Amino acid sequence: MADERWNAFENKVRSCTACGLCQSKSNYVIYRGAISAGLMIVGEAPGVDEDREGKPFVGVSGKLLQNALDALGFTAGDYHICNICKCHPPQNRRPTSEEIRVCKQLFAEQFRIVRPKVILLMGSTAYEAFYGNKPVMHDVRGIFDERNGYYIMTTFHPAYALRNPKGKLPIFEDLIKVRQKLIDLGIKEIVKDING
Ligand code: URA
Repeated sequence: MADERWNAFENKVRSCTACGLCQSKSNYVIYRGAISAGLMIVGEAPGVDEDREGKPFVGVSGKLLQNALDALGFTAGDYHICNICKCHPPQNRRPTSEEIRVCKQLFAEQFRIVRPKVILLMGSTAYEAFYGNKPVMHDVRGIFDERNGYYIMTTFHPAYALRNPKGKLPIFEDLIKVRQKLIDLGIKEIVKDING
């Protein structure tokens, strides 16, 4: 049943023409990891590498994220990685508020199928799409916001950490908190501690 819903969702994304990005993109970028997962990791929009491969977070910022996930013992069955926008904006620009508005409807459907308990918003665009207002990142990051039974955390976008290496440690620390929350909720087993 979940698979049928997911297939219908993917078909819907792949036939989406709700904004102009569908004309410039090479691939719709929907997710990687598990379809149904306790943890949903949400970015902004696909970059050039993601557009080429059709998967989110596979470029340099994706490697930074993946290295941290691997180091903390996360496996692909633990997470569903996706973006607010499914199409790559030309010149790597930020998606416009209209592009975010229309794509958020697809994101909401995706969210209902994945049924995460913990959500990690990476960067200000994901935050804004989720909450409807701009974040002061240094104030909101690293803190769980418990809403309607969901645990939502905001962290820096990995691209920010590539530009400002001081951002790497906070992302890692936030992922440790996310892992602990999943363990506390009985969703993830401890497979490896942070010392390896
Ligand atoms: N940045 C994002 O926000 N998402 C990706 O998939 C890649 C880079």
